Amino acid sequence: MAYKERTKTKLLNIYQILSSRMHLASDDYYYYLNLLKGFEGEMRFDEFTEKLKEFCLILNDLQLENRRSSFQIDSLLIFFDRIVLYEIKNYEGVHYWGKDKFTKLNGVAMENPALQLQKTRVRLELLLQELGCKIEVEAFVVYINPEFTLLGAPADERLLLPSQISRYFGNLLLGAKPTTEQKKLADALVKLHKLDYPSKMPEYRYDQLIKGIPCTTCGALLETFSGHRQSCAKCGKRVNVKNAIKTSISDFRLLFPNEPVTSARMTDWCGIGRRDRIFRVLREEYTVKGSGNMRYYV
Ligand SMILES: [Zn+2]
Repeated sequence: MAYKERTKTKLLNIYQILSSRMHLASDDYYYYLNLLKGFEGEMRFDEFTEKLKEFCLILNDLQLENRRSSFQIDSLLIFFDRIVLYEIKNYEGVHYWGKDKFTKLNGVAMENPALQLQKTRVRLELLLQELGCKIEVEAFVVYINPEFTLLGAPADERLLLPSQISRYFGNLLLGAKPTTEQKKLADALVKLHKLDYPSKMPEYRYDQLIKGIPCTTCGALLETFSGHRQSCAKCGKRVNVKNAIKTSISDFRLLFPNEPVTSARMTDWCGIGRRDRIFRVLREEYTVKGSGNMRYYV
């Protein structure tokens, strides 16, 4: 297990729920796909670092700040003698390398991720200095997608292409195991991690969202429910209705953190089905507050 695990961000969770309950505007939709793709790439990368956990402390997905400059780290390995920082990119297709920009075959250009990584590395070094820690920092951009090709990159560029990742990790000099000193540093960084870093949320309103319960396998929305199990029209898997109701209620809480969870509201939110099913889940999973018409669940 990593010292700090990677979890789906709140933003990605919200987008995922919304994508099955409303029509996302195309720029929101592509933004969501990018978030999802990035997360999938990071998960794939974690399979490599997971094997090193005895030799280093693995900190995934850190949101840090130093002197009012914030920076995000996809993956950080703390070894006894150095820190290695990885920026993970799940790009696909052929890209032409440029010092500042990459260009795709269709002419679309994007910033060379090495520029961002350089900034991140400097900010991390400054933060480490403030923490009183003298340790060497290495940094790499990792292109995790096997369908990614980069043409024209200089050989000394600090990057790992899909074909190099496995060998890179196989050849890493591991040496001594982390000591309490490294653990202290890891704890300090985890403590500085900003959980609720503000991000631009998509706009949505309760009345515009489709009501129902999500398939526990694929997330597709079931607008009606009955019985204990029911087939998902999209993926064909059997859905445990009770679990789907639970998920639907927690989705509501994530989307509308300031709205009270009432039995009437949840009955509407979960789509067409028996009201007593919703009521039972609320009673079992939550604590009731208030009384009569003012009753709500926390
Ligand atoms: Zn499904």
